[in-house]
Amino acid sequence: MNVAENLRQIKETLPENVRLTAVSKFHPESVLLEAYAAGQRIFGENHVQELVPKYEHLPKDIEWHFTGHLQANKVKHIAPFIHTIQSADSLRLLEEINRQAQNHNRKINVLLQIHIAQETHKFGFLYEEVEKLLEEKTFDALKNIQIGGLMGLATFTDDEQQIRREFNGLNAFFTKIKNNYFAGAHFFNELSIGMSDDYLIAIEEGSTIVRIGGRIFGQRNRN
Ligand SMILES: *Cc1c(COP(=O)(O)O)cnc(C)c1O
Repeated sequence: MNVAENLRQIKETLPENVRLTAVSKFHPESVLLEAYAAGQRIFGENHVQELVPKYEHLPKDIEWHFTGHLQANKVKHIAPFIHTIQSADSLRLLEEINRQAQNHNRKINVLLQIHIAQETHKFGFLYEEVEKLLEEKTFDALKNIQIGGLMGLATFTDDEQQIRREFNGLNAFFTKIKNNYFAGAHFFNELSIGMSDDYLIAIEEGSTIVRIGGRIFGQRNRN
């Protein structure tokens, strides 16, 4: 597996406004360092117990993103250094991220993960839930988080039309809430959609952040 070459090939396909999160879960630090040497600075991890040692050992100019389901009681371990939590999927979690960010005197970027897939096991807010929270200005009290946009995972399927519909729907929702609730907020501008097998569709449907693991680092043993 030639990580540098994989990165080069992926970058060739990314428009200028689309950033790459290299999802490195279950891959050893040596492999992340290969990506780092090739210029990659944004890495995504899904497990707190794996992320913390990687953060401690690897170069400090890496921008760490959390991309997996995060338990509220573990937020405290990553709050000192995490750049963005892309997978904020409940109000309770957002409140805990806010509290821990406050403890560390920082502001943590979050993306609201929206449930767009058909599988019931994928985490995320429903569209209606987010609209209700915005309507009731619930997030306004959370001064130590900045909501930078939305994230979603499409259904695991070969049906490209379905994947496209799910991404397209999320993009439409993004535009709607940007206009209705984040007008003039320059920071609300990220749509994190697209993984190894569907990122080209995601780009066509408005992605600004793709999250790619396998296509960079090869197969992993687990998900
Ligand atoms: C693992 C994972 C990815 C990367 O998936 P690949 O198919 O390996 O590119 C992206 N996003 C999330 C949320 C993930 O858990």
